[in-house]
Amino acid sequence: MACNHEIMIDNFNPEETVHYSVIIIKGHVKNKPKSTCQTEQIYVNPGSTNSYFKIVDGKFKVLSELKLGQNSIILKYCCLTTTVFINYAPRQSNLSVLPLYIICEGHDGKFQAPETQQNDIDSACKRITLCSKLLQSVIAEKLNEQNQRRKTFKLEDDCRVFRSKLNYLEARKMTQEELWTSLGREIANSDIGREEIKFLGFLSCTKYCGEGYEENFFHDDIVKLTQAYVALGGGGLALFGTACLYTWPEDVSHVIEKFEDCSLIDRRQFMDDSCYRGTFGACFSTTLGSVLHELCHTFDLGHTGNGIMGRGFDDIYKVFVSFKSERSGDIRRTFQNSIEFEEKFDTGLLSDRLAEKKKGFSVKDESSKIEQDGTFWTRSCLTFLSYHKWMNDFEFSKNDVIKFDPVTKFLSSIAGLRVIELRNENDGMVIKDWIFDGKVLKYSFQVPEDELNNLSKKSVMLVVEDNIGNILKHVVNI
Ligand SMILES: [Zn+2]
Ligand SMILES: [Zn+2]
Repeated sequence: MACNHEIMIDNFNPEETVHYSVIIIKGHVKNKPKSTCQTEQIYVNPGSTNSYFKIVDGKFKVLSELKLGQNSIILKYCCLTTTVFINYAPRQSNLSVLPLYIICEGHDGKFQAPETQQNDIDSACKRITLCSKLLQSVIAEKLNEQNQRRKTFKLEDDCRVFRSKLNYLEARKMTQEELWTSLGREIANSDIGREEIKFLGFLSCTKYCGEGYEENFFHDDIVKLTQAYVALGGGGLALFGTACLYTWPEDVSHVIEKFEDCSLIDRRQFMDDSCYRGTFGACFSTTLGSVLHELCHTFDLGHTGNGIMGRGFDDIYKVFVSFKSERSGDIRRTFQNSIEFEEKFDTGLLSDRLAEKKKGFSVKDESSKIEQDGTFWTRSCLTFLSYHKWMNDFEFSKNDVIKFDPVTKFLSSIAGLRVIELRNENDGMVIKDWIFDGKVLKYSFQVPEDELNNLSKKSVMLVVEDNIGNILKHVVNI
């Protein structure tokens, strides 16, 4: 008897249009395999690329690079094939992100890498371009999971080489802040500098001096061994070193294997930035996650205790790789504990709190199709990102601005307020937020005096975003 499996696609509608080129198709196989079935993998475009992705607990994730226009992606499992039609149309927005490979004066443009690997300018640009596309995909999937559609930033172009006038030996003596400031200024004043572009820069001359490595070094010590190390984002530039670029793939067909690469890093030779996990794969995951974190600072996000804007970006590989889910009982227990804890302080209906939790922290009930991959933004960050100008094609008008009265603490926007955050001035930590993400717009809001007084601070940064991506930042003296 023939098999009666079904390949179900969980995260795309038929004929869906996306605005970015590397997509993650998530799905599952219905009807259990028989002993004669081939069960391990799902094949993509058999006969041409013949790449395959593993199936774990009946579920799969397929990573696919789209060409412009209509794409038909053939998935084959056992004796069954199905075709996914997806249209790729880049956004027309003039607001975009441009990846740069920054080569300082006097440097040959080769990044640190094992001898078995390509490490020239061409290889660096391929890796940076691909990983920029992966980040587009993460943002789109995460917003889509929270019903915000597949919004993401537009890539201006593939990675370009930027030749800096800063000498590479000088660069290696500079602090992160000095590098960010100096290169940020140079890029802004160059031919390519434009306010409409956020730059995602990678510095070729980063040098990890592994001969100084000692066992049991902490991450900080490893950073100290690394010249021209940088991971800083804000304003129009997110800037990174390239000491771990050797763990990144050049081609989309190698993304999964790079994430799953368990080879141990020789810390006497190469930088290990893997949150103490020590493998090539973990290093790729942590560094890609940190690029997302810093890039999001350029989209005006602050810090949070949890999630991507905290330290919750090390497991970004799980967004791409099929993995065994934790026992749902564990998730549920943690979830319930947190609810019970909060209930002591709040008499709000449990059902309301459940709904709020689900939205804000990606905590799902067991029936939900959305997987717990551990990578998320808190609700205020997610909403902030969702209405950010770089994720949308808003029409602008100079009259649509957010108004704030520092005396009465009264805020207003004729476009409708979306997110109001109070952040620490020193570290940008979000300490209080108000979110209006419903259909009914909120045009004005008064920051409650008692909330401000409760903070026991002299001043705090007020950050506000409205329905068309206008942002107001204002120091509030308390
Ligand atoms: Zn079968
Ligand atoms: Zn940060």
